[in-house]
Amino acid sequence: MNIKLNKKIIKIAVAALALITTSATVAPTTITNLTTVSAKAKKHHKKVKKTKKSKKKAYVIAKYYDEFKPGYSYTYNKKKGVFIGHKMKKHHTSTTDSDEPRVEKATSNYNVPKVKEFTKDIITKYNLKKYRWSKTNITVNIQALTNEQQQIAKDAIEQINNLHIINLTIITKKANITITQTNKDGTALAETTLESTGDEYKGLNITETATIELCNPALNRNAKGNYELKLNQSITHELGHALGLVHTTNNETNIMNAVQHIDYNNLIDSTHVAIDQDYINSLAILYQN
Ligand SMILES: [Zn+2]
Repeated sequence: MNIKLNKKIIKIAVAALALITTSATVAPTTITNLTTVSAKAKKHHKKVKKTKKSKKKAYVIAKYYDEFKPGYSYTYNKKKGVFIGHKMKKHHTSTTDSDEPRVEKATSNYNVPKVKEFTKDIITKYNLKKYRWSKTNITVNIQALTNEQQQIAKDAIEQINNLHIINLTIITKKANITITQTNKDGTALAETTLESTGDEYKGLNITETATIELCNPALNRNAKGNYELKLNQSITHELGHALGLVHTTNNETNIMNAVQHIDYNNLIDSTHVAIDQDYINSLAILYQN
């Protein structure tokens, strides 16, 4: 019995010794470090408290979000269960300029005026929708179209890209512009819907997405036996809308004219319309600014 007990005691003693030695080799530096840090932190904490007391109303308290005052930056204090708001520095509150979206300008050099703001006169003169993309590289998804329609869409996209104002890139993922088709019958040949990010730039809304829906029955009815040309005209016209153009009224040869008769347009060949100067100028003033 005695021997066994001794053995146990010895074992425990050995184990304890082992613990001491291992901790002794690692611990000293860390322990001293820790103490110095926490001591510093305490000092700092005291300092902060003092200045808060001496300064009159350096912060405000809010229980809920809707109590937040403008000009204060709030952080939640878990201990107190309230939001503490510190007055923001003046230069911080007056950064409204940087809230304006980052907007890319086209590097093209078409002869259109430089504008600080898109005024009503400019909007009317250039047939603008008061929308533009914030960038000049815009993606397009045409996957919902038939193979024939896709080929025609690719040509129309290339025609617009050849103006070297903006660049449309066809992708198979979610894109900025989506072209779809429907067999729903109606009077419209196609419909384009724009959504804004809510940001404004020089009086224009920044476009977030555009969806073009081609209406097959109406397109077929109006094709006059030349479906390729009709679709080329329609896609060029709808992409014009998607990029920020509205209808023109005084020139029937315009692609953006409300009356889309293919016999009015100037053509580059039997299946492609020629993009007119008004269309080019509208894109140029939108994106060169
Ligand atoms: Zn239209």
